[in-house]
Amino acid sequence: MLSNSLIELDRAHLVHPVASYRGHERAGVRVLKSATGATVTDATGHQMIDGFAGLWCVNAGYGQESIVEAATRQLRELPYATGYFGLGSEPAIRLAAELAERAPGDLNHVYFTLGGSDAVDSTIRFIHYYQNARGMPGKNQFISIEQGYHGSSTVGAGLTALPAFHAGFGVPLNWQHKIPSHYAYRNPAGNDPQAIIAASVAALRNKVEELGQDRVAAFYAEPIQGSGGVLVPPPGWMKAMRDLCRELDILFVADEVITGFGRTGPLFACSEDDIVPDLMTTAKGLTSGYAPMGAVFMSDHVYDTIADGAGETAVGHGYTYSAHPVSAAVGLEVLRLYEGGLLDNGRKAGARLMSGLESLADHPLVGDVRGRGMLAAVELVVDKQCKTPLPPAAHPSRRIFDRAWDNGLIIRAFGNGVLGFAPPLCCTEAEIDAIVERTRMTLDQTLEDPDVRAAIA
Ligand code: PLP
Repeated sequence: MLSNSLIELDRAHLVHPVASYRGHERAGVRVLKSATGATVTDATGHQMIDGFAGLWCVNAGYGQESIVEAATRQLRELPYATGYFGLGSEPAIRLAAELAERAPGDLNHVYFTLGGSDAVDSTIRFIHYYQNARGMPGKNQFISIEQGYHGSSTVGAGLTALPAFHAGFGVPLNWQHKIPSHYAYRNPAGNDPQAIIAASVAALRNKVEELGQDRVAAFYAEPIQGSGGVLVPPPGWMKAMRDLCRELDILFVADEVITGFGRTGPLFACSEDDIVPDLMTTAKGLTSGYAPMGAVFMSDHVYDTIADGAGETAVGHGYTYSAHPVSAAVGLEVLRLYEGGLLDNGRKAGARLMSGLESLADHPLVGDVRGRGMLAAVELVVDKQCKTPLPPAAHPSRRIFDRAWDNGLIIRAFGNGVLGFAPPLCCTEAEIDAIVERTRMTLDQTLEDPDVRAAIA
C-alpha cells in the first residue's frame, strides 16, 4: 500500500514538470512502482498498459535486462568521464560512430546532451556560431512552426509554440518567429496534401521575405509535430520545406526528439522523408528513457565551418554531463535491441495500432485519426461536421486520462481533446488490441460525461 506520507512529502516538496501546482497539490501524486514490457504497476498494485511509453521515450519497453546489465557494467568500470581536456570514454565514442553511420546523409558529427531541450538549445548556440564563422552575423533570426514543441529551456521554449510554455515566461524572444502549422484536419487550405504543402512553402517564403533573407539563420521542423497533437504533414512536406531552406540559404533543423529511434518506423523519420537536414536533434528513444541523454547531429559543412571558424580557439559550449558514459553504454545496448528485432516489431505493431484506431472513426466523438508507425492521435469533437472541440468544462485532459487509467491504460489526453498514443515498440498484438479496446471504453464513458452531453445537445 502507498503510504499517505509519500503523497504528503510529494505535495510539500516535489515540483512537477508542466503541472498546475495547486491542482496537483489537491489531486495528489500517483506513484508508479514497477514496470515490465509495456505494463506499468502503480503503488496500489493497479496495472496498466503504457500506451505513451512514459513520455514517448521508453521505445524499447521496460525491464530490458541487457540494458540494465550494460548500465551496471559501465557504472562499475567508469561511471563518469569528462569530454573536456581532450578526454573521452569508449561508449561515448562508439555510440557517436554508430549513430553517424546510421544517420541520414552527412550528419557525421554528434554532440551529446542530457535530453531534448538542451539539444535544441545547443543547435541555437551552434547556428549562431556557424553564421558568425561564415561571416554572416546578421543571420540571427529563427523560424519555427505554430503547435511545434522544441523543449522547455528559456531559448527553446521561445521556438516552442504552445501557449502554456510562453504565458508568464517572457518568451518568445524578439528573434523567434512562427509560421502556421500544416495541421491537416484544421488547415484553412483544406486537406488536399499539395495545397497544404504549397501553403507552408508560401508561408515560409513570405516570412523570410518579411524578415529579410540575409537575417534568417534557421528553420525548425518536427517530422511529425508531437506535443502539438501528433500532427502528421502530408508526404513530401518535409522535402519541400528542406528544399526551400536550401534555396533561401537557411539552415534546416529536423527535431527528431520524438520521431527518432523507431517511433515512426525507421531509426530516423528523416530517412523515410528522404531528406538530409543540416542539423538534427534527438533524445528520448536514444536511451529509451533508461538514462538521460540527447544528441545533436551536425552535417559536415556545419561542423567544418564551426571548426575552421574557431581554429585553435575552444568552441565555448559544453556540459559537465556531455557524452555521459553510462548513458552512452545504455544507448549502445538500446540500439542493438532496436536492430535486433524491436524496429521490426514496432513497424508491425504500428500498422495494427493504426488500423485499430481507425476502427474507432465511427464513434460519435471521433473527428480524426492520424499517425505514422507507433505514433498516433485520435482527435475528439462534439460535432463532426463543424469539428467543434470538446468543451473546456469537460476537462478533457484530466477526466479522459483518469478514465483510461481506471480502464488499465495510460494515454496522453491533451487539453483540446486530442488523445496521443506512443506505445513501446515491444508491444504484442494482444497489447495493441487492448489499447484500442480500452480506448473505446474510455470514449464510451466520455460520451456519458454530462459536460460532453451538454455540448452535444
Ligand atoms: N523537441 C521535441 C520535438 C520534443 O518533443 C521534446 C520533448 O518532448 C523536446 C524537444 C524536449 O526534450 P526534453 O523533454 O528531453 O528536454
